[in-house]
Amino acid sequence: MQMKVLCDETMTLDPPRRTLLMLLTALGLTQATQTPPEQPQEDGQLPLILGPVLALLVLVALGALGLWHVRRRQEKQRGLNSELGESSLILKASEQGDSMLGDLLDSDCTTGSGSGLPFLVQRTVARQVALVECVGKGRYGEVWRGLWHGESVAVKIFSSRDEQSWFRETEIYNTVLLRHDNILGFIASDMTSRNSSTQLWLITHYHEHGSLYDFLQRQTLEPQLALRLAVSAACGLAHLHVEIFGTQGKPAIAHRDLKSRNVLVKSNLQCCIADLGLAVMHSQGSDYLDIGNNPRVGTKRYMAPEVLEEQIRTDCFESYKWTDIWAFGLVLWEIARRTIVNGIVEDYRPPFYDVVPNDPSFEDMKKVVCVDQQTPTIPNRLAADPVLSGLAQMMRECWYPNPSARLTALRIKKTLQKLSNGLQKPKVIH
Ligand code: ADP
Ligand code: MG
Repeated sequence: MQMKVLCDETMTLDPPRRTLLMLLTALGLTQATQTPPEQPQEDGQLPLILGPVLALLVLVALGALGLWHVRRRQEKQRGLNSELGESSLILKASEQGDSMLGDLLDSDCTTGSGSGLPFLVQRTVARQVALVECVGKGRYGEVWRGLWHGESVAVKIFSSRDEQSWFRETEIYNTVLLRHDNILGFIASDMTSRNSSTQLWLITHYHEHGSLYDFLQRQTLEPQLALRLAVSAACGLAHLHVEIFGTQGKPAIAHRDLKSRNVLVKSNLQCCIADLGLAVMHSQGSDYLDIGNNPRVGTKRYMAPEVLEEQIRTDCFESYKWTDIWAFGLVLWEIARRTIVNGIVEDYRPPFYDVVPNDPSFEDMKKVVCVDQQTPTIPNRLAADPVLSGLAQMMRECWYPNPSARLTALRIKKTLQKLSNGLQKPKVIH
């Protein structure tokens, strides 16, 4: 009874003190439950008893304070969660490790079908991003480095005339399970209306080396690093091109705008493929070919002869993959020029730099690629190296005029892996 009264009284106290009082009660250390000593204590014994009692009191008080602190954190968390609605998942993830984004994207709160987060979470994330610096200007918009809870993210801001690319990329990332080391990691898409204009954002992982195009301007490559870049890019392309069946599956995807500017270099010096704004999807299993609705065309410099001749069979999915392989061969060529063999290396140049002007027209390209049937000159020095001569041969097999004769992405990936197996760890040359 005395205990109950005491408990009722404790309800009016603040949480730490209440917990403390209850604990003391349970331990029989409060006045309320203390039985009077049967014999009077001798003066000399008092410090002996008081010492441990005080130590115990301190311990209990510390415990209670700890408990109170944990409770307060939980309450604060709950408050924030309700403020953010569905994005409570973000906060759940944030408690788990260093990278909030990594945890968030790995956690089981992703939608299941696509590779993205639920839409409301995407929106919340997007609106928590602070833009820091513009890192690139493309034909159709800008790319910014942004910060989200202290982590860098890339924000691609689409110009309104390229809204179809935003739609397409958003659609693909949200409907296809596209998590792969060599495909740019998607975080969120958002559309906002400000002052009667619409802003379209695509938020992805940020890679400080920038695009392969940027990287090759700055770096010359040891063969090991060249192969690492090539193999990883090929892994990304092979993953895009393959259809995977089953619940964790994906349709086959052709990129249609492959170029060194749309390949990014990660901090581990592997590549990942970016920009799915023009991509087409195909599923044999579900019998569909989805070519989207984007008036944009690929980059002229990288167009395969059948595209320039307007001979491509638009109803045949394979033909889109074949155009990717043509472009991939050109990317390999850009890498090869920057590879040091016998101490020799060339400056960075874009494909066909010597035969077409800057920003070549469709006609410029058609003349070179279709009429004159030119392909880029493969550096002679590659022949001197058994591995790099394999790379040279691979380029030739990407550039067959007959599209169906070209290598497949899977063959390229396997051959490059084989070539790189004989090599050692890559070094970055400054
Ligand atoms: P384009 O492909 O036409 O060059 P983009 O808008 O796709 O235009 O990109 C512009 C530039 O922004 C790229 O060339 C690259 O330097 C940079 N960039 C794009 N995405 C990222 C990213 N995720 N991380 C770091 N830099 C990026
Ligand atoms: Mg791009």
